[in-house]
Amino acid sequence: MYSGSIVKKATAMARRSVLLALIGAGMSVAVFTGQHLTHELHNHTLSQKLITAHQSAADILLADERLTMSAHMAAETGEKMWIDRYNENIPLIDQAINRALKIAPPHLRSFFDNETRIANRHLVILEMNALRAAQLGRTKEARSILDSVDYHYNKGVLSRGTNRFNKKMIDSVFTDVDAADEKAHVWFGLALSITLIGGVLLWRRLSGSLEKSEFAFLEAEDRIRHLARHDALTGLANRHSFREILDGTLTKAAVSGASIAILMLDLKGLKKINDTKGHLIGDLVLTEVAKRLVKTLSDKGHAARFGGDEFVCLIETTSREEATEITNAFVSSLEQPVVGQDFSVHVGASVGIAFYPDDARDYEDLIRKADLALRKAKPEDTSKIIEYHRRMDEELNERAQLEEELKTGISAGQVVPYYQPIVDLETEQVECFEILSRWEHPTRGLIPPDDFIPLAESSGSIGDLTLSVLRTACITVKALPGNVSIALNIAPQQIQDDWLVQGLLGVITETGFPPERLEVELVENALVSDLAAAKTIITSLKNLGIRVALDDFGTGYSSLCYLSELPFDKIKIDRSFITNIPQREENVKIVNAIVGLGRSLGFHTVAEGVETEEDADFLRMIGCPSAQGFYYAKPTPGCDLPELMASLKQPDVQQAIA
Ligand code: C2E
Ligand code: MG
Ligand code: MG
Repeated sequence: MYSGSIVKKATAMARRSVLLALIGAGMSVAVFTGQHLTHELHNHTLSQKLITAHQSAADILLADERLTMSAHMAAETGEKMWIDRYNENIPLIDQAINRALKIAPPHLRSFFDNETRIANRHLVILEMNALRAAQLGRTKEARSILDSVDYHYNKGVLSRGTNRFNKKMIDSVFTDVDAADEKAHVWFGLALSITLIGGVLLWRRLSGSLEKSEFAFLEAEDRIRHLARHDALTGLANRHSFREILDGTLTKAAVSGASIAILMLDLKGLKKINDTKGHLIGDLVLTEVAKRLVKTLSDKGHAARFGGDEFVCLIETTSREEATEITNAFVSSLEQPVVGQDFSVHVGASVGIAFYPDDARDYEDLIRKADLALRKAKPEDTSKIIEYHRRMDEELNERAQLEEELKTGISAGQVVPYYQPIVDLETEQVECFEILSRWEHPTRGLIPPDDFIPLAESSGSIGDLTLSVLRTACITVKALPGNVSIALNIAPQQIQDDWLVQGLLGVITETGFPPERLEVELVENALVSDLAAAKTIITSLKNLGIRVALDDFGTGYSSLCYLSELPFDKIKIDRSFITNIPQREENVKIVNAIVGLGRSLGFHTVAEGVETEEDADFLRMIGCPSAQGFYYAKPTPGCDLPELMASLKQPDVQQAIA
């Protein structure tokens, strides 16, 4: 279960427990208070009972004494007053007896009835007899009744019975009190036990849950800390923690005098694996590469992933040779394919190495220099290890200076179009001039496009360059006789330029060059990186009446999918297939197939790099419609175009001469 849900569960549990504890505490207080009040009430009732019992017993005895005294006085004196007083006291003793009977428990009631009431009834009868005798003046008889054994016996029974009733009432009340106390204790004990057991159970569940949550929290904290310092996919150190490791190692090395090698590695072929096999397999490859890296380094260093297919290693080494040996071992380990359940793929690596203390002494400089060496290794097709050299920094500075010069050169009009004709193979008439840029550098001389176009691409000035040469070409070619078209090369990255089409339209509008005489050449690389963007650009260009050609066909992926998906007007077969074609059987077959494809799909085919008459004759023979190459003309500056035109067949010019 993931930690978030454990913590959530524990919080809910804690909330529930607190609620239950509050309810439990409330209930306990209510039970204890209720119990206490009931007990108090019960005790109060019992004490009331006891008081009433005492009072009743005392009243019985007092009334009896009064009756006895009144009876004796009446017997002694025969006075009516005492008889009246006796009669007044008779109901009092009955009332006291009734009161006592009312509060007495059943077993005491019958006992009291049997003893006291009967004795009292006897006494009343005897006393009434004595009173009646006294009333009649027979005082002696009256006295003898009151002195009789029977009378004294019943008097004794009444008095003892009343006292015994009183005592038994006390016993009964105390028994009740004891029973109530015992009951209260049992209740109290029960309630306390339930509260304690409930509390313990609740606490155990809550603390168990809190313990789990604490554990999950600590685990999550560990994981977050690990993630903050490691690459999530490979588990290697990330850029941040690699910096800490390298800084620490550099500090130690400054004291010990040890050497350190920094390796910047870039995988070759990962993009292709991602594109063709999917990112899941790409991830598996990255994980496997990381494992091989760690295994090769063993305890000699540390590896990190900086992102994508970029790895960095630190090797604590005794010599440059040892570091190179380890790097070689890693590159060799990559020769083994990465094999999965239903795939097997190969990757390679470009590696740049910089050494401490020879090349650099701090983190930034070491990384920068290893990266510089890596940039040298990258363009190679196979795995390559290159060590940093001071020359690389010089080249970098030179390149930065050249970039600056190129920018100013473009605005100063130093980058100019040269023109190479594309001719109709049958009629040998010029169809089009391809614009091939040259940099007329004030001090370095004429620089070919292969040397400055990549610079313009990387420095972001390719857009300005394109529009600048197009503007010059439009003006130059428009001034020539005839309706020759011009073909403009577009760099792959310009496909992503949303302003490209607008820029081209701006130039042809400004120079008044007809759009249908403009052709744009794209290379296949441009299509591979973003087919959708290429489609949009091609459609926009065609909507403006501009034609689109696929340049250098056969050198890239040469996917037939591009031919069917994108509406090209022209395919230019790369010169590597054309030069000396009659002698190259394989190329004959390929070119034949492309020309046939063009015929059936309805696009124009141009053979580039025609250098000899034999090449031209052969291409004509197999039905290739157009050609371009040194055989007809080399790229020529604008000022020489009229001369070039004159030397080549040009229908309109000839018509004009005729
Ligand atoms: P590309 O577009 O394929 O142009 C044809 C290249 O082949 C030109 O090289 C041309 O001089 C060369 N070539 C033509 N015929 C022959 C031949 O018979 N034999 C030999 N050996 N070479 C022949 P260049 O002028 O050096 O241009 C190289 C590349 O630079 C061009 O290849 C094009 O991709 C690029 N490039 C040139 N100018 C521009 C530009 O203004 N913008 C962009 N983006 N790229 C440009
Ligand atoms: Mg071209
Ligand atoms: Mg070409």
